[in-house]
Amino acid sequence: MALFREQRLKIYNSLSGKKEYFVPINEGRVGIYVCGPTVYNKVHLGNLRTFMSFDIVTRYLRHLGLNVRYVRNITDVGHLEHDADSGEDRISKKARLESLEPMQIVQRYTVDFHQMLNRLNCLPPDIEPSATGHIIEQIETVKDILSKGMAYVVNGSVYFDVFKYSDSHHYGILSGRNLEDLIHNSRSLDGQQDKKNPQDFALWKKAEPEHIMRWPSPWGDGFPGWHLECTTMSTKYLGAQFDIHGGGMDLKFPHHECEIAQSEACGNQQPVNYWMHANMLTLNGQKMAKSTGNNILPEEVFSGSNTFLSKAYNPSVVRFFMLQAHYRSVLDFSDAALAASEKGFVKLMASLSVLNQLPVSKITTSFNLNNWTNAGYDAMNDDFNTPVLIAELFTAVKFINQVKDGDAQISAEDKKALEIQLNHFIFDILGLESQASDSKTDRIDMVVKILMDLRNQARVDKDFALSDKIRDQLIEAGIQLNDGKDGTGFSFL
Ligand SMILES: [Zn+2]
Repeated sequence: MALFREQRLKIYNSLSGKKEYFVPINEGRVGIYVCGPTVYNKVHLGNLRTFMSFDIVTRYLRHLGLNVRYVRNITDVGHLEHDADSGEDRISKKARLESLEPMQIVQRYTVDFHQMLNRLNCLPPDIEPSATGHIIEQIETVKDILSKGMAYVVNGSVYFDVFKYSDSHHYGILSGRNLEDLIHNSRSLDGQQDKKNPQDFALWKKAEPEHIMRWPSPWGDGFPGWHLECTTMSTKYLGAQFDIHGGGMDLKFPHHECEIAQSEACGNQQPVNYWMHANMLTLNGQKMAKSTGNNILPEEVFSGSNTFLSKAYNPSVVRFFMLQAHYRSVLDFSDAALAASEKGFVKLMASLSVLNQLPVSKITTSFNLNNWTNAGYDAMNDDFNTPVLIAELFTAVKFINQVKDGDAQISAEDKKALEIQLNHFIFDILGLESQASDSKTDRIDMVVKILMDLRNQARVDKDFALSDKIRDQLIEAGIQLNDGKDGTGFSFL
């Protein structure tokens, strides 16, 4: 908390279009809600960038000493194929195509999502609510909006009345769109005939007889509209007004605009003080899309099994690469850019061990550690500017190498201080991991190789009791040694 008072953090607020000093509603505490994935397919690399951006936000707020409650939802019902309330539910459709239960689809892709974020060292949220787990609360929100006269019931569905709302509120406040333009640009879509106006959006949709995901409600069997869950769950876990709401840029309209309208209709107040939006990731200069083949899965990046890549990249290198761009800028993903990041990452990590070995001097340090530390914090205080912080890290790397080459000196006290601060920046705030600690299997490989060498030596020494003991105890540990003509290998039992 002391650090938070010292550092004056500014956040770019999408609502005002300006960077604003961050002042939490409750001193010392921060409530943050981030729109999570719709779990109907493997997580997209671009989505991972968004979630990693908010991992940086929560890590930095915590580093400053704030008590953060981080809520990120799982959308497991209600997100239709088209944003304008039309088409099939994405999860139902996938379940139908694969002849599975919708909840099997949800489980499968929630696990994939967690695994990929874990590999990128993103910390889990404090609360991860799902839409299907909050049907009762969502029905209560719909009732509330109906009681305020901002919604209407038609044929078993409930729609938000955007025109009625606009009489007293500003619909379009976040996205900058105005209702006139929306009317001008709207076209009639199938399944929209129940709405008074095409701009209205579903709070509750009637389930047709063939629809699997359905719940009873005062308006008949149905399911919640996509925008409703985030309003209901953010209010439940963070209150009617909270500090930060984040998501991808593509969610600004209609999703976040509709969230604001729903909350204001219920409570007549702006629900969120700071809206943050992360920009997209392109692949070789073009939008990533499955339909065009310009697409790459996170696991393919980690294994190198995609024709766009010349090799596999460690998840920490991928994280480092993404942090070299500001979260509000478009970032282009390419093999060449990743390879360049890998070089930088290796250099940065190597400098930590060089620093550890540096000789210390009795005379003063030829580096202004204070100024450098401040510059690092200034970068983060400027709307989480990770590329500038990384540039500062390389200023320190340069100095470390100068000391190593005898062109500069560092005192024992400053060496310790630099070590601590680099650890704060690199590991706590940027969430990078040194490659050695990332791969536990690599370390197991090394240990087994050491034991194989000892066994070979025992055989050379004709100490067969020892060589057999090593072999048998490895089998007990689930590792089988395989002696072949090219030497000994091993496999897991
Ligand atoms: Zn949302």
